[in-house]
Amino acid sequence: MGTVTLDNLRKEFDNGNLVAVDDVSLDVADGEFITVVGPSGCGKSTTLRMLAGLETPTSGSIRINGEDVTNVHARKRNVAMVFQNYALYPHKTVEQNMAFGLRMSTDLTKDERTERVRETAEMMGIGDLLDDRPNELSGGQKQRVALGRAIVREPDVFLFDEPLSNLDAKLRTTMRTEIQRLQKELGITAIYVTHDQEEAMTMGDRIVILDDGELQQAGRPTDVYDDPANEFVGGFVGSPSMNVLDAAVEDTGTGVTLTGADGRFTYELTSDTANALAGVDEVRVGVRPEDVRIARDGETGVETAVEVLEPIGSDNYLYLDIGPEFIARVPSDVAPDLGETVRIAFDESDLHLFDPLSGASLT
Ligand code: ATP
Repeated sequence: MGTVTLDNLRKEFDNGNLVAVDDVSLDVADGEFITVVGPSGCGKSTTLRMLAGLETPTSGSIRINGEDVTNVHARKRNVAMVFQNYALYPHKTVEQNMAFGLRMSTDLTKDERTERVRETAEMMGIGDLLDDRPNELSGGQKQRVALGRAIVREPDVFLFDEPLSNLDAKLRTTMRTEIQRLQKELGITAIYVTHDQEEAMTMGDRIVILDDGELQQAGRPTDVYDDPANEFVGGFVGSPSMNVLDAAVEDTGTGVTLTGADGRFTYELTSDTANALAGVDEVRVGVRPEDVRIARDGETGVETAVEVLEPIGSDNYLYLDIGPEFIARVPSDVAPDLGETVRIAFDESDLHLFDPLSGASLT
């Protein structure tokens, strides 16, 4: 079992002048893989450190398996943390590193400990490294040892603090899959902090997005991608970022017309989206680059000039004059000349409408 509940968890530093974590509440189910993502300084690590017992909350509570552990010492919580810098003891062998946490936290005999370390090392593919010391290992091997050291303790909850940041891109992808596989196989609840939205989206059963210490949205990756709660989430999730334009809203009686701030586009809304804008004068209109296409013959579109073409192999990114940093992701055979005018279109169902002041989603 490994349920985790955060209830209005708050952490202030500098005598309350800095709120690092601002009343965050979250329920994590047993066996769930939660990724926590957000820009630098948003409070990810502080949240994780409070869960591990390395930082004391200013207020709020943490429960693991229903038990209030807010003031329980780190060693007495059955959680294991995996760090970005591996945190291995340089003078101990791989076997000693893995056995160390076990000695601290269980009452197994020496033989049982050795057996369990060996089994885990085999499972992690590091069985032949048990006598090596950390400086003899590659980055990937060190991270496997760090993972193995966490797994061997059979914790209720795994806490990961950017564990793959020091690895190269290829190894990172391999390790991502491996961590997911192990977590599902072992059925241990995982809370995984990263600043990489792609990592968060691909690994999490649910993704939690923080900004400025506040929880912006928690949900399944596809739900957060399709229905971002606000403009921040819309822009943070997805790559390249969602395009967002200012528009004036005009009710035409039969529908609603959106007009770009400097007249660079107009768009007629007809369906439910129009209803969401009742009584609204100004709106922020979001559309993802992958939802922008070249208009079909006969389709009403928006004419705009191509400023930059960036080929990424399978597709091209077209930077368009319709607004600041407005990108269309189109197939690689769509390769207009720079300065050429193209006619683009997007479906009403792919538009995201945000309140210009609060940023909250209106759809
Ligand atoms: P990063 O991705 O850069 O590691 P983060 O999202 O993990 O950032 P935190 O490390 O949790 O963010 O920091 C949140 C805020 O709290 C930041 O403004 C940081 O400067 C501040 N902070 C963190 N630890 C302390 C501390 N011990 N004393 C004072 N301020 C701190």
